[in-house]
Amino acid sequence: MGLHMNLKDWLGTFGLLDLFSGMQVTLRHMFKPRITIEYPEQKTPLSPRFRGEHVLRRHTDGSERCVACKLCEAVCPAQAIYIEIDPTSTAAQRLTRVYDIDMAKCIYCGFCQEACPVDAIVMGPNFEFTEETRAAMIYRKEKLLANGVRFGARIDENLRLNAKYR
Ligand code: SF4
Ligand code: SF4
Repeated sequence: MGLHMNLKDWLGTFGLLDLFSGMQVTLRHMFKPRITIEYPEQKTPLSPRFRGEHVLRRHTDGSERCVACKLCEAVCPAQAIYIEIDPTSTAAQRLTRVYDIDMAKCIYCGFCQEACPVDAIVMGPNFEFTEETRAAMIYRKEKLLANGVRFGARIDENLRLNAKYR
């Protein structure tokens, strides 16, 4: 503390003005609505365009939407998607035998979803997922299809909300 302390500084320190101005801020915010949330019990709203964990969707009759065109695989900048076509596929019904996504490579760009002509691969609303090994981060077709069932209603709603912008 220097010898040249002016009156304002002196009052701030010894007259407790600084303390009271700080308390004023506290009091002002005490009666405002809280902006923090109790995650994970509470969650903030997500945009319908949120790009979370992938899902593979089915038609309402249960058949797979994916027609094994491999456009998602071709467009993926991280080369995270690996597809093999089911050799029993016919011209009328093309299916994948293998559909893997390496979630450890994925950069969540959404290009696969954009490229898909039949809205089969879609990025869902789930961001709460993790695995303990790299091997488990490779999502197989079965898991992606199961995700499609698990998040189906929300994804349908998100696609509906986004339809006018596509
Ligand atoms: S979100 Fe992007 S990086 Fe991830 S699988 Fe799709 S295209 Fe590849
Ligand atoms: S998910 Fe879509 S883009 Fe990818 S192979 Fe299937 S139909 Fe083609």
